[in-house]
Amino acid sequence: MKVGRLQGGSVALAEAPDPVASAGEVVVRLAACGVCGTDLEKLRGRYQSAGRIGHEPVGVVDAVGSGVPGLRPGDRVFVHHHVPCYTCEVCRKGDLTFCPTYASTNIDPGGFAEKFRVPAENVARGAILPLDPSVGWEAGTLLEPAGCALTALGRVGFRAGDSVFVVGLGPVGILYGAIARALGASWVGGAEIAPLRRAAAMKSGFALALDPRDAPELDRQVQAATGGRGVDLSVAATGAPMALALAARLPRRAGTMNVFGLPEAGRSLDADLQELYLRGTKIVPTYATTDHDIRAVHAMLVAGRLDFAGLVTHRVALDRLPEAFDLAGRPDTAVKVAVTGSAFGG
Ligand SMILES: [Zn+2]
Ligand SMILES: [Zn+2]
Repeated sequence: MKVGRLQGGSVALAEAPDPVASAGEVVVRLAACGVCGTDLEKLRGRYQSAGRIGHEPVGVVDAVGSGVPGLRPGDRVFVHHHVPCYTCEVCRKGDLTFCPTYASTNIDPGGFAEKFRVPAENVARGAILPLDPSVGWEAGTLLEPAGCALTALGRVGFRAGDSVFVVGLGPVGILYGAIARALGASWVGGAEIAPLRRAAAMKSGFALALDPRDAPELDRQVQAATGGRGVDLSVAATGAPMALALAARLPRRAGTMNVFGLPEAGRSLDADLQELYLRGTKIVPTYATTDHDIRAVHAMLVAGRLDFAGLVTHRVALDRLPEAFDLAGRPDTAVKVAVTGSAFGG
Protein backbone atom coordinates (compact mmCIF):
# COMPACT_ATOMS: atom_id res chain seq x y z
CA MET A 1 0.00 0.00 0.00
CA LYS A 2 0.96 3.66 -0.33
CA VAL A 3 2.12 5.66 2.70
CA GLY A 4 2.97 9.35 3.01
CA ARG A 5 6.31 10.03 4.70
CA LEU A 6 8.64 12.92 5.39
CA GLN A 7 11.82 12.45 3.40
CA GLY A 8 14.64 14.97 3.52
CA GLY A 9 12.57 18.14 3.70
CA SER A 10 9.72 17.00 1.49
CA VAL A 11 6.70 14.76 1.72
CA ALA A 12 6.65 11.69 -0.50
CA LEU A 13 4.72 8.50 -1.06
CA ALA A 14 6.41 5.21 -0.29
CA GLU A 15 5.32 1.58 -0.53
CA ALA A 16 4.72 -0.33 2.70
CA PRO A 17 3.20 -3.70 3.56
CA ASP A 18 -0.53 -3.71 4.39
CA PRO A 19 -1.03 -3.56 8.17
CA VAL A 20 -2.45 -6.60 9.97
CA ALA A 21 -4.78 -6.51 12.98
CA SER A 22 -3.28 -8.61 15.80
CA ALA A 23 -5.11 -9.32 19.07
CA GLY A 24 -6.73 -6.16 20.43
CA GLU A 25 -5.93 -4.16 17.29
CA VAL A 26 -8.00 -2.66 14.48
CA VAL A 27 -7.05 -1.84 10.89
CA VAL A 28 -8.86 1.07 9.23
CA ARG A 29 -9.11 1.84 5.50
CA LEU A 30 -8.67 5.59 5.00
CA ALA A 31 -11.57 7.76 3.91
CA ALA A 32 -9.97 11.12 4.70
CA CYS A 33 -7.34 12.78 6.87
CA GLY A 34 -6.88 16.52 7.32
CA VAL A 35 -3.53 18.22 6.79
CA CYS A 36 -2.77 19.98 10.10
CA GLY A 37 -0.53 23.00 10.64
CA THR A 38 1.67 20.72 12.75
CA ASP A 39 2.13 18.42 9.73
CA LEU A 40 3.39 21.47 7.83
CA GLU A 41 5.70 22.40 10.70
CA LYS A 42 7.11 18.86 10.67
CA LEU A 43 7.74 19.23 6.94
CA ARG A 44 9.51 22.55 7.55
CA GLY A 45 11.61 20.91 10.26
CA ARG A 46 10.49 23.35 12.95
CA TYR A 47 8.65 20.85 15.17
CA GLN A 48 10.88 19.05 17.64
CA SER A 49 8.56 16.03 17.67
CA ALA A 50 9.00 15.46 13.92
CA GLY A 51 7.88 11.97 13.11
CA ARG A 52 4.70 10.51 11.78
CA ILE A 53 2.36 12.68 9.79
CA GLY A 54 -1.43 12.58 9.58
CA HIS A 55 -3.43 12.54 12.81
CA GLU A 56 -6.97 13.57 11.80
CA PRO A 57 -8.16 10.37 10.11
CA VAL A 58 -11.59 8.92 9.46
CA GLY A 59 -12.28 5.69 7.62
CA VAL A 60 -13.95 2.33 7.49
CA VAL A 61 -12.96 -0.55 9.78
CA ASP A 62 -11.16 -3.06 7.57
CA ALA A 63 -10.15 -5.76 10.06
CA VAL A 64 -10.70 -6.35 13.77
CA GLY A 65 -8.28 -8.43 15.88
CA SER A 66 -9.48 -10.84 18.52
CA GLY A 67 -10.81 -9.41 21.77
CA VAL A 68 -12.17 -6.12 20.42
CA PRO A 69 -15.83 -5.87 21.30
CA GLY A 70 -18.26 -3.56 19.55
CA LEU A 71 -16.49 -2.98 16.24
CA ARG A 72 -17.08 -4.69 12.91
CA PRO A 73 -15.60 -4.40 9.43
CA GLY A 74 -17.50 -1.71 7.55
CA ASP A 75 -18.06 0.55 10.57
CA ARG A 76 -17.39 4.26 9.89
CA VAL A 77 -14.98 5.59 12.51
CA PHE A 78 -12.78 8.46 13.64
CA VAL A 79 -9.48 7.42 15.22
CA HIS A 80 -7.55 9.48 17.75
CA HIS A 81 -3.80 8.95 17.41
CA HIS A 82 -2.66 9.62 21.00
CA VAL A 83 -4.01 8.19 24.24
CA PRO A 84 -3.01 9.04 27.83
CA CYS A 85 -2.00 6.28 30.26
CA TYR A 86 -4.64 7.37 32.87
CA THR A 87 -2.41 6.12 35.71
CA CYS A 88 0.58 8.50 36.02
CA GLU A 89 0.73 11.56 38.30
CA VAL A 90 -0.02 13.96 35.41
CA CYS A 91 -3.04 11.95 34.27
CA ARG A 92 -4.37 11.63 37.82
CA LYS A 93 -4.34 15.43 38.11
CA GLY A 94 -6.48 15.55 34.97
CA ASP A 95 -3.87 17.01 32.61
CA LEU A 96 -4.26 14.08 30.24
CA THR A 97 -2.59 15.52 27.14
CA PHE A 98 0.57 16.25 29.14
CA CYS A 99 0.92 12.60 30.16
CA PRO A 100 4.57 11.70 29.48
CA THR A 101 3.61 8.69 27.37
CA TYR A 102 0.68 10.35 25.55
CA ALA A 103 2.66 11.48 22.49
CA SER A 104 4.50 8.17 22.19
CA THR A 105 1.28 6.32 21.37
CA ASN A 106 0.29 6.53 17.72
CA ILE A 107 -1.44 4.92 14.80
CA ASP A 108 0.81 3.00 12.40
CA PRO A 109 2.09 4.22 9.97
CA GLY A 110 0.07 7.48 10.29
CA GLY A 111 -3.06 8.99 8.82
CA PHE A 112 -1.73 9.52 5.29
CA ALA A 113 -1.81 5.85 4.31
CA GLU A 114 -4.24 3.64 2.42
CA LYS A 115 -4.75 1.69 5.64
CA PHE A 116 -3.49 2.14 9.17
CA ARG A 117 -3.27 -0.01 12.28
CA VAL A 118 -4.68 1.16 15.61
CA PRO A 119 -2.54 -0.40 18.38
CA ALA A 120 -4.21 -2.32 21.19
CA GLU A 121 -3.47 0.39 23.80
CA ASN A 122 -5.24 3.02 21.66
CA VAL A 123 -8.20 0.70 21.03
CA ALA A 124 -8.48 -0.21 24.72
CA ARG A 125 -8.36 3.46 25.84
CA GLY A 126 -11.20 4.61 23.62
CA ALA A 127 -9.35 6.04 20.61
CA ILE A 128 -11.88 4.71 18.11
CA LEU A 129 -15.11 6.68 17.86
CA PRO A 130 -17.95 5.33 15.69
CA LEU A 131 -19.22 8.18 13.52
CA ASP A 132 -22.87 9.12 13.54
CA PRO A 133 -24.40 8.68 10.05
CA SER A 134 -25.08 12.44 9.98
CA VAL A 135 -21.34 13.24 10.27
CA GLY A 136 -19.70 13.15 6.83
CA TRP A 137 -16.07 12.32 6.15
CA GLU A 138 -15.01 15.95 5.78
CA ALA A 139 -16.61 16.97 9.07
CA GLY A 140 -15.03 13.86 10.60
CA THR A 141 -11.54 15.10 9.75
CA LEU A 142 -12.27 18.24 11.79
CA LEU A 143 -13.11 16.36 14.99
CA GLU A 144 -9.50 16.27 16.22
CA PRO A 145 -8.71 19.97 15.72
CA ALA A 146 -12.14 20.87 17.15
CA GLY A 147 -11.37 18.60 20.11
CA CYS A 148 -8.12 20.53 20.65
CA ALA A 149 -10.15 23.74 20.88
CA LEU A 150 -12.59 22.21 23.37
CA THR A 151 -9.73 20.87 25.49
CA ALA A 152 -8.12 24.32 25.44
CA LEU A 153 -11.34 26.09 26.45
CA GLY A 154 -11.64 23.71 29.40
CA ARG A 155 -8.05 24.19 30.44
CA VAL A 156 -8.18 28.00 30.35
CA GLY A 157 -11.35 28.04 32.44
CA PHE A 158 -13.62 29.52 29.76
CA ARG A 159 -17.11 30.43 30.98
CA ALA A 160 -20.30 31.30 29.12
CA GLY A 161 -20.43 35.06 28.68
CA ASP A 162 -16.66 35.42 28.13
CA SER A 163 -15.40 37.45 25.18
CA VAL A 164 -12.79 35.78 22.96
CA PHE A 165 -10.32 36.99 20.36
CA VAL A 166 -8.54 34.47 18.14
CA VAL A 167 -5.28 35.47 16.44
CA GLY A 168 -4.71 33.24 13.42
CA LEU A 169 -7.85 32.09 11.60
CA GLY A 170 -6.61 28.86 10.11
CA PRO A 171 -8.99 25.90 10.36
CA VAL A 172 -8.30 25.32 14.04
CA GLY A 173 -8.61 29.02 14.90
CA ILE A 174 -11.99 29.14 13.18
CA LEU A 175 -13.10 25.96 14.97
CA TYR A 176 -11.98 27.51 18.27
CA GLY A 177 -14.24 30.50 17.69
CA ALA A 178 -17.16 28.31 16.62
CA ILE A 179 -16.89 26.17 19.75
CA ALA A 180 -16.52 29.20 22.02
CA ARG A 181 -19.72 30.56 20.49
CA ALA A 182 -21.50 27.24 20.94
CA LEU A 183 -20.45 27.29 24.60
CA GLY A 184 -21.92 30.75 25.11
CA ALA A 185 -19.17 33.27 24.34
CA SER A 186 -20.58 36.79 24.47
CA TRP A 187 -18.38 37.97 21.58
CA VAL A 188 -15.84 36.27 19.28
CA GLY A 189 -13.49 38.26 17.08
CA GLY A 190 -10.34 37.30 15.24
CA ALA A 191 -7.36 38.41 13.20
CA GLU A 192 -5.83 36.83 10.14
CA ILE A 193 -3.66 38.01 7.27
CA ALA A 194 -5.31 35.89 4.53
CA PRO A 195 -8.60 37.43 3.26
CA LEU A 196 -9.96 33.98 2.28
CA ARG A 197 -9.67 32.80 5.87
CA ARG A 198 -11.11 36.02 7.29
CA ALA A 199 -14.14 35.44 5.08
CA ALA A 200 -14.39 31.81 6.23
CA ALA A 201 -14.30 32.96 9.87
CA MET A 202 -17.12 35.45 9.28
CA LYS A 203 -19.21 32.67 7.71
CA SER A 204 -18.52 30.54 10.79
CA GLY A 205 -20.01 33.17 13.07
CA PHE A 206 -17.12 35.46 14.06
CA ALA A 207 -18.37 38.97 14.82
CA LEU A 208 -15.21 40.47 13.37
CA ALA A 209 -12.20 39.25 11.36
CA LEU A 210 -9.45 41.87 11.03
CA ASP A 211 -6.09 42.19 9.35
CA PRO A 212 -3.54 42.02 12.22
CA ARG A 213 -1.13 44.26 10.32
CA ASP A 214 -3.41 47.25 11.00
CA ALA A 215 -2.70 47.35 14.74
CA PRO A 216 -4.42 50.69 15.58
CA GLU A 217 -7.66 49.60 13.87
CA LEU A 218 -7.50 46.21 15.60
CA ASP A 219 -7.03 47.80 19.01
CA ARG A 220 -9.85 50.25 18.33
CA GLN A 221 -12.26 47.47 17.35
CA VAL A 222 -11.39 45.22 20.30
CA GLN A 223 -11.74 48.13 22.72
CA ALA A 224 -15.08 49.11 21.17
CA ALA A 225 -16.40 45.54 21.42
CA THR A 226 -15.33 45.11 25.04
CA GLY A 227 -16.23 48.48 26.53
CA GLY A 228 -12.55 49.45 26.59
CA ARG A 229 -11.59 46.54 28.86
CA GLY A 230 -9.98 44.01 26.51
CA VAL A 231 -11.13 40.44 26.02
CA ASP A 232 -11.56 37.80 28.70
CA LEU A 233 -9.60 35.33 26.55
CA SER A 234 -7.14 35.87 23.73
CA VAL A 235 -5.94 32.92 21.71
CA ALA A 236 -2.71 32.61 19.73
CA ALA A 237 -3.93 30.02 17.24
CA THR A 238 -0.75 30.20 15.19
CA GLY A 239 2.83 30.01 16.38
CA ALA A 240 3.89 33.08 14.41
CA PRO A 241 5.81 35.39 16.81
CA MET A 242 3.68 38.38 15.72
CA ALA A 243 0.51 36.50 16.66
CA LEU A 244 1.87 35.62 20.10
CA ALA A 245 2.89 39.23 20.74
CA LEU A 246 -0.54 40.46 19.66
CA ALA A 247 -2.42 37.88 21.74
CA ALA A 248 -0.36 38.88 24.79
CA ARG A 249 -1.69 42.44 24.82
CA LEU A 250 -5.39 41.84 24.15
CA PRO A 251 -6.69 40.34 27.44
CA ARG A 252 -8.51 42.49 29.97
CA ARG A 253 -6.97 43.00 33.42
CA ALA A 254 -6.51 39.52 34.98
CA GLY A 255 -7.62 37.99 31.69
CA THR A 256 -6.15 34.98 29.94
CA MET A 257 -3.96 34.35 26.93
CA ASN A 258 -4.05 30.85 25.48
CA VAL A 259 -0.90 29.68 23.68
CA PHE A 260 -2.78 27.32 21.40
CA GLY A 261 -0.97 27.13 18.03
CA LEU A 262 2.38 25.36 17.90
CA PRO A 263 5.21 27.89 18.29
CA GLU A 264 8.43 27.23 16.39
CA ALA A 265 11.08 25.43 18.44
CA GLY A 266 13.42 27.91 20.13
CA ARG A 267 11.18 30.97 19.76
CA SER A 268 10.68 33.38 22.69
CA LEU A 269 7.61 35.37 23.62
CA ASP A 270 8.13 39.03 22.76
CA ALA A 271 6.02 40.72 25.42
CA ASP A 272 6.46 43.36 28.12
CA LEU A 273 6.74 41.24 31.27
CA GLN A 274 6.06 44.17 33.63
CA GLU A 275 2.91 44.93 31.67
CA LEU A 276 1.81 41.28 31.97
CA TYR A 277 2.68 41.29 35.67
CA LEU A 278 0.76 44.45 36.50
CA ARG A 279 -2.22 43.41 34.40
CA GLY A 280 -2.23 39.90 35.89
CA THR A 281 -2.42 38.19 32.51
CA LYS A 282 -2.62 34.42 32.82
CA ILE A 283 -0.64 32.71 30.05
CA VAL A 284 -1.95 29.18 29.55
CA PRO A 285 -0.46 26.87 26.95
CA THR A 286 -2.69 24.01 25.87
CA TYR A 287 -1.78 21.05 23.74
CA ALA A 288 -3.74 18.44 21.84
CA THR A 289 -6.96 16.76 22.96
CA THR A 290 -8.48 13.62 24.41
CA ASP A 291 -10.97 11.12 23.04
CA HIS A 292 -13.35 12.39 25.76
CA ASP A 293 -13.36 15.90 24.28
CA ILE A 294 -13.53 14.54 20.73
CA ARG A 295 -16.65 12.60 21.75
CA ALA A 296 -18.11 15.80 23.20
CA VAL A 297 -17.46 17.70 19.94
CA HIS A 298 -19.01 14.82 17.98
CA ALA A 299 -22.11 15.02 20.19
CA MET A 300 -22.33 18.80 19.65
CA LEU A 301 -22.11 18.25 15.90
CA VAL A 302 -24.80 15.57 15.94
CA ALA A 303 -27.05 17.80 18.06
CA GLY A 304 -26.67 20.65 15.55
CA ARG A 305 -24.83 22.91 18.05
CA LEU A 306 -21.86 23.08 15.66
CA ASP A 307 -21.61 23.22 11.88
CA PHE A 308 -18.34 22.51 10.08
CA ALA A 309 -19.75 23.20 6.59
CA GLY A 310 -17.45 25.00 4.20
CA LEU A 311 -14.22 24.66 6.21
CA VAL A 312 -12.77 21.85 4.08
CA THR A 313 -12.08 23.77 0.88
CA HIS A 314 -10.00 21.10 -0.90
CA ARG A 315 -10.01 17.34 -1.24
CA VAL A 316 -6.84 15.80 -2.62
CA ALA A 317 -6.37 12.06 -3.23
CA LEU A 318 -3.62 10.32 -1.25
CA ASP A 319 -1.77 9.69 -4.55
CA ARG A 320 -1.23 13.46 -4.77
CA LEU A 321 -0.16 14.00 -1.15
CA PRO A 322 2.65 16.51 -1.95
CA GLU A 323 0.04 18.66 -3.69
CA ALA A 324 -2.15 18.52 -0.57
CA PHE A 325 0.72 19.79 1.58
CA ASP A 326 1.47 22.52 -0.93
CA LEU A 327 -2.17 23.68 -0.89
CA ALA A 328 -2.46 23.53 2.90
CA GLY A 329 0.53 25.87 3.12
CA ARG A 330 -1.25 28.54 1.07
CA PRO A 331 -3.66 30.45 3.31
CA ASP A 332 -4.79 32.59 0.37
CA THR A 333 -6.03 29.53 -1.48
CA ALA A 334 -7.17 26.99 1.09
CA VAL A 335 -8.76 26.83 4.51
CA LYS A 336 -8.65 23.09 5.29
CA VAL A 337 -7.27 20.43 2.98
CA ALA A 338 -8.48 16.84 3.38
CA VAL A 339 -6.47 13.98 1.90
CA THR A 340 -8.81 11.27 0.69
CA GLY A 341 -8.41 7.50 0.59
CA SER A 342 -10.28 4.66 -1.07
CA ALA A 343 -13.08 4.58 1.54
CA PHE A 344 -14.05 8.19 0.80
CA GLY A 345 -16.75 7.29 -1.69
CA GLY A 346 -18.14 4.53 0.56
ZN1 LIG B 1 -3.90 18.60 14.17
ZN1 LIG C 1 -0.34 9.41 32.11
